[in-house]
Amino acid sequence: MERIGLGLIGSGFMGMAHAFGFAIAERVFDLPYKLDFAVMADATDALAKTAQERFGFRESTGDWRALVADPSVHMVAITTPNALHKEIALAAIAAGKHVYCEKPLGLTSEETEEMAHAAAAAGVVTQVGFNYICNPMVVLARHMIRSGELGDIVNYRGVHAEGYMLDPATGWNFRFEPLGGGVLADLGSHALATAEFLLGPIDEVFGDCRTVYPTRLSRDGTPVPVKVDDITCAQLRFARGCGGSMEASWLAAGEPMGHTFHVYGTKGAISFTQERLNELRHYSCADPEGRHGFRTILAGTEHPPYGDFCVASGHQLGFNDIKAIEVKGFLDAIAGRQAEPMGFGWGHRIQVLTDTIRASSRAKAWTNVPPTAFRPK
Ligand code: NAD
Repeated sequence: MERIGLGLIGSGFMGMAHAFGFAIAERVFDLPYKLDFAVMADATDALAKTAQERFGFRESTGDWRALVADPSVHMVAITTPNALHKEIALAAIAAGKHVYCEKPLGLTSEETEEMAHAAAAAGVVTQVGFNYICNPMVVLARHMIRSGELGDIVNYRGVHAEGYMLDPATGWNFRFEPLGGGVLADLGSHALATAEFLLGPIDEVFGDCRTVYPTRLSRDGTPVPVKVDDITCAQLRFARGCGGSMEASWLAAGEPMGHTFHVYGTKGAISFTQERLNELRHYSCADPEGRHGFRTILAGTEHPPYGDFCVASGHQLGFNDIKAIEVKGFLDAIAGRQAEPMGFGWGHRIQVLTDTIRASSRAKAWTNVPPTAFRPK
């Protein structure tokens, strides 16, 4: 079997998830390639060496450019802070590598358009880390919407709420950077990707971006004005005709992982939260009188690719397993077994949506989403 070399850049929260995702995918799935954990890069030689040993890579480097130039690296996974995504991705594309980049794809839609064009022109396969839509229960939700099981969809509510910035003393980090930071980019990008995965393109938005804490502490402890949003809510109008809303917040006390959605149709409703990622709740209007209520569908072998992980239903997948499903889609696309599941074209579209929500918030008006080359079905 042909070997494919992985270069992973960054070993923080997402770097670890990518390392696990590739390792799990290799053990669980019938992949088209044998994986070579070739080069691990981080900001310093020491960080890279530690991660190399921990994740099982052959080599390490404190210079991501050396990783990109390494001929044994065929695909580059980018898990660095957002401001580095564009430079690394463009260098990797120019070197002919396939690129798997964390969300948000870039800092602005001008950046992401350039990235999407470069990838398309080079003919490399790309992937953006919208992992939540790889969950078999979210795929089931999409199927239930698309098959008409819920009737005509009348409303959507999607939220990505977490509480990790609630402490006003949270120190400065890349998520507060004026360009490319803010909760809409950080968490709202996931909420928008899930909304479009389930219901198709969003054509119009009306956003309300709010900064709750006007300052945060810099690394030396002095207060710095915050220019980005802590909470964003937006009204949405989908091309399919229904309306809905999205909310992104990093000030949500008591919500460690509130990636949730509710879909309401004329025949029933579904509801999901990532905190119970193996469950999809379904309400059917057809239930007999006196028996109405949501019931819980538990992930099992009927929901592919659950059965590749475990032969017994109800034993539950985890966050890193979902990342492994994302990895499989990327590798299958490289091998030509399937189309790019969520490439840079979609990453650019999500950036356009976030930029449009910000613009509509400033204008205090409904705003059309500009056309993008990629439009989800
Ligand atoms: P993090 O701070 O935990 O990790 C960032 C890593 O990048 C660190 O290892 C850091 O040392 C490294 N790094 C910084 N500068 C570097 C350089 N010049 N060269 C090489 N490495 C460098 O951050 P994180 O939470 O892992 O977030 C990283 C990215 O992943 C962000 O884009 C974020 O939006 C995204 N993310 C995605 C999800 C998801 O569910 N898909 C979740 C969290 C974060």
